[in-house]
Amino acid sequence: MNKLILFFLLLINVSIANEAFDYIKLTPKEEAFLRNTEIKVITSNTWAPINMYNDENQLAGIAIDFWNIIKQRAGIKSETVTAKNWNHVLESIKNKEADITIGTSFDRNKLKYANFTNSYISFPIAFATLFDKRFIPNASFLEGKKVAVGENYSAHNILKEHYPKIDFVLVKNTQEALELLSAGKVEAAVDILPTIAHLISVNGYYNLKISGTSEYDVHVSFMIRKDYKELQSIINKHIALITPEDKKNIIRQWLTVKFDKTFVGYEYLFQILVLIVLIGLFYAFKQKDLKKYNEELKKLSITDRLTQLYNRRKIDELLNEVKNKKFSLILLDIDHFKEINDIHGHLEGDKVLVEISNLLKNSLNQNDEIGRWGGEEFLIICKNTSEKEAYIIASRLKKAIEDHDFKIRKITASFGVSEASKNLDIKNILAKADDALYKAKQQGRNQVVTASSL
Ligand code: GH3
Ligand code: MG
Ligand code: MG
Repeated sequence: MNKLILFFLLLINVSIANEAFDYIKLTPKEEAFLRNTEIKVITSNTWAPINMYNDENQLAGIAIDFWNIIKQRAGIKSETVTAKNWNHVLESIKNKEADITIGTSFDRNKLKYANFTNSYISFPIAFATLFDKRFIPNASFLEGKKVAVGENYSAHNILKEHYPKIDFVLVKNTQEALELLSAGKVEAAVDILPTIAHLISVNGYYNLKISGTSEYDVHVSFMIRKDYKELQSIINKHIALITPEDKKNIIRQWLTVKFDKTFVGYEYLFQILVLIVLIGLFYAFKQKDLKKYNEELKKLSITDRLTQLYNRRKIDELLNEVKNKKFSLILLDIDHFKEINDIHGHLEGDKVLVEISNLLKNSLNQNDEIGRWGGEEFLIICKNTSEKEAYIIASRLKKAIEDHDFKIRKITASFGVSEASKNLDIKNILAKADDALYKAKQQGRNQVVTASSL
């Protein structure tokens, strides 16, 4: 279905191409340049969602899409290589092994060997902090504080010029900056808004949020080798014809592609949620909205994409919270799930996972927390619950699954139950539930086994 959407977008692009082409007057020199030159593009893949690798290990992202539109409309012949790192990009442009890089921002230090086109899209610099921190109206609030940033990233160059008193902690990339922040080693991390939003939601940093944006935007443009003046002017003419509609389409198109993990169906709702959040971030960024978006972002970062249950990260956090209290664990694994995939296909397998997730969620009370532990395994934390009581809960769940009409076939699950005790740490309690589950499988599946019975 997404392929279809992409196809239509492509059709739309083609029709715009013909229209736009008539409006653009090229000089004879520019025309000759286009006819005679094959352009070598070099790009890094470490600035998601500007330029990155998608799930199929292909270059993708906002900059790539803008380039493709311009390339197509202008009729540029080109080939693209991925750079080892950002320095490799700069070196290649310097020594003319490559002609253009597609997602960067103006930097006067590079004018000796390169020119910049006008910018084709701009994003504010965003400040990420721990979730409980207050709103940051502007970057002066970061002065004297430890702020992690990718070394020589646009956000770094801009902020250090205007706010030299910020105590920058330089890291390789923004992922690393957020890692430091999440671990409490710095007070903030900065990069452009879509990058921060993307990384928080994709990596599940549930303890982070966006606390504000700077008054300075990063203007994204193309950087071209110094002697290719014609290429610069041709591209500028096309950038001038990019409409707000084009921009929205690209952002939307990218998000749809990015969050399309092979299957549409059940993930579709989730994609729409992501879309609303991110488009909201781009187009309506006010303080009162910030709170709402951060709540959405947090929800995304603790939620398993397919099943909408808590993800592994969140479950780990919850385990940490009950650590020294009375609780029991139920570990559940679907029986012969491989067969379901093999016979009915992966998509049907996914549907079963969603159906079982809903079934489980609806059969539990507020006292119990459930998350997707991995593949087709689920973990339930029963607070203030003995092993005996957890056994009763698990038996109820077992029956609910057994009795449910899954349409494609009868489906069952096996359960291991264990109770916390003072002399056991979380790992041991989990291992006991796992041993019990193993026994349930060995004894013929579709049953509940307690750790105390082993
Ligand atoms: P057993 O009764 O011993 O548990 O048999 P099983 O076939 O369920 O064996 P196992 O637990 O080893 O297999 C789990 C399978 O679940 C393997 C994997 O392909 C599949 N799986 C894991 N995650 C997903 C998913 O997100 N979607 C689908 N469709 N399948 C998944
Ligand atoms: Mg399994
Ligand atoms: Mg299984």
